[in-house]
Amino acid sequence: MTDGAERPGGRADDHAPTTPGWSCGSCGDEWPCATKRSRLLAEYGGDRAMLSVYLGSCLAAATEDLRAAPVMSLQDRFIGWLPRGSRWVWTSVGGVLAAVAGVVGFAMTRRPRRG
Ligand SMILES: [Zn+2]
Repeated sequence: MTDGAERPGGRADDHAPTTPGWSCGSCGDEWPCATKRSRLLAEYGGDRAMLSVYLGSCLAAATEDLRAAPVMSLQDRFIGWLPRGSRWVWTSVGGVLAAVAGVVGFAMTRRPRRG
């Protein structure tokens, strides 16, 4: 185990998201970029439930930041890339949908009323 010992905060190679645009801070792709995705899978390999919770919270935050973007495309971008074939994906999608519904409902209540 010599790998992964290095974990500096805020390094250029971090592929961390920049907000509110949600592009990758390292390569500029839409976050999570391909590099970040493979890193996340490696990092959370043994704990996919935690990974989906993490991505779900990112999705909820991005939904707030990127209100112009369609929710479905954000869902696809944040969690659609996860490997399929396991029940955990759909379990976590249900949780994410609930979170998104809450965010959307919150946004609707803030919409200015006419009249
Ligand atoms: Zn990147």
